[in-house]
Amino acid sequence: ATDFGIKEALKQLGVKDINNGTSTGNNSFSNGDFIESYSPVDGQLIGKVKTTTAADFEKVMETATAAFKTWRTKPAPLRGEVVRQFGDKLREKKEALGKLVSYEMGKSYQEGLGEVQEMIDICDFAVGLSRQLHGFTMHSERPGHRMYEQYHPLGVVGIISAFNFPVAVWAWNTALAWICGDVCVWKPSEKAPLCGIACQNIAAEVFKANDLPEGICNLINGDYKVGEMMTKDKRIPLISATGSTRMGKIVAQEVAGRLGRSLLELGGNNAIIITPDADIKMTVIGAVFGAVGTCGQRCTSTRRLIIHESVYDKVVNAVADAYGQLRIGNPLDENNHVGPLIDKDAVKMYQHALKKVVEEGGKIVVEGGVLSGDGYESGCYVKPAIAEGEPQFEIIQHETFAPVLYLLKYSGGVENGIAIQNEVAQGLSSAIMTNNLREAEKFLSQAGSDCGIANVNIGTSGAEIGGAFGGEKETGGGRESGSDAWKVYMRRQTNTINYTESLPLAQGIKFDL
Ligand code: NAD
Repeated sequence: ATDFGIKEALKQLGVKDINNGTSTGNNSFSNGDFIESYSPVDGQLIGKVKTTTAADFEKVMETATAAFKTWRTKPAPLRGEVVRQFGDKLREKKEALGKLVSYEMGKSYQEGLGEVQEMIDICDFAVGLSRQLHGFTMHSERPGHRMYEQYHPLGVVGIISAFNFPVAVWAWNTALAWICGDVCVWKPSEKAPLCGIACQNIAAEVFKANDLPEGICNLINGDYKVGEMMTKDKRIPLISATGSTRMGKIVAQEVAGRLGRSLLELGGNNAIIITPDADIKMTVIGAVFGAVGTCGQRCTSTRRLIIHESVYDKVVNAVADAYGQLRIGNPLDENNHVGPLIDKDAVKMYQHALKKVVEEGGKIVVEGGVLSGDGYESGCYVKPAIAEGEPQFEIIQHETFAPVLYLLKYSGGVENGIAIQNEVAQGLSSAIMTNNLREAEKFLSQAGSDCGIANVNIGTSGAEIGGAFGGEKETGGGRESGSDAWKVYMRRQTNTINYTESLPLAQGIKFDL
């Protein structure tokens, strides 16, 4: 049996059997319990990571706050140059890191490579941005005065990430935070800690080569309790947290309680509206990749198809046919379309969803089930399933983080489809399949989709780093990655300078002494 080059990849990335989960760059130490990382691909133990204790965390925070004082004084384009080198290192390690992502998380090798490519892309974006951290200049109402605003580095940025994008989400945050002059403390998901170790090794090497101090890139490890050390810490002005809505509600309250800032990227319940004018072939590709890609474990995965009654049977038959051709198995084998779920808890949640939709009156259209036997030893492989239901079913109102696709029917105009699409608590990604300009524009208008992402003739899943990424309502309202998302990583200051010999007050107020 081939190991698909995993051993070699781990070696290249400096991931060992036992790793210190706390690091300030080149200096790593850790005194907590172990997290064992098992691959959902084959159930094998990949390695162990020692978690972060309160004392370890304190050491990290002291080093990070000291490093910030140096890092913030470096000109932003110089910080950009360091990020450029980091991007180059990622190019060198792309195959190894992509493989580890695939093996530890379970997504396909192609998607693992794609994730590393996203990291490279955000580095390129950040390098350019490092020369563009601009504020406005305004005209003052007072003669001989100049007024402008500028953006300054914020401080220590805390990053909490989810298992499903174990490396890219960190890079989205960290590449921008670094060029903004911030230092970062990252707690990866306890379900993918080795990806964190690998990334930290890559970053640390770059900072060392540039003679920069310890503490600009920091890593901590553990479960939610280690996350809480960050959310409660007043020395961290911004917490960027990616994960479930349940987690986001706790983090938001904790951080708001100390008047800190949070950037939240939480769950979605993404839908594609399929109108009578949809191109069915494109629809099938978009819907099937959206629903089964990453085994349904993307925040932007397609959860619901909202299909016009006039094309309902045609679409459902075509999608079900495509499901019949899916190959499920080792995601490192490029012949397979669908890999495993992250762990057995996720398998239970998947089974629960299928049971629940039937209990609520739904009908299974493509049968699910857990796979066993040769190649499926980890117990994490499931069959992507499709179920018909009603929009208001409780299970359909929630995010099912697995390959279960819900079919909903609408009749009448596109506004009825849009109403169903918006009738959930989440607001991340949405799409419409139509060649009808009026329908497309309605969907994109102020009366259309209420999501942070709204696409026409593209599925819900996957995004480019150039645009700001994030969603509304219970998805948390945060935006990261492209556009002007960088602003959240900086503090804003308005400056007024008087170059006259008198002191006129604003609004013409007289104050004569
Ligand atoms: P999760 O909420 O279980 O965990 C996410 C992270 O939060 C982990 O690192 C965890 O340790 C930490 N955490 C949990 N409770 C915490 C607390 N009270 N304080 C501090 N930290 C805490 O999520 P998951 O299962 O890893 O990921 C799946 C979820 O993430 C899905 O809901 C998915 O939609 C969402 N997600 C959203 C985006 C987005 O950009 N909107 C991207 C990826 C994933």
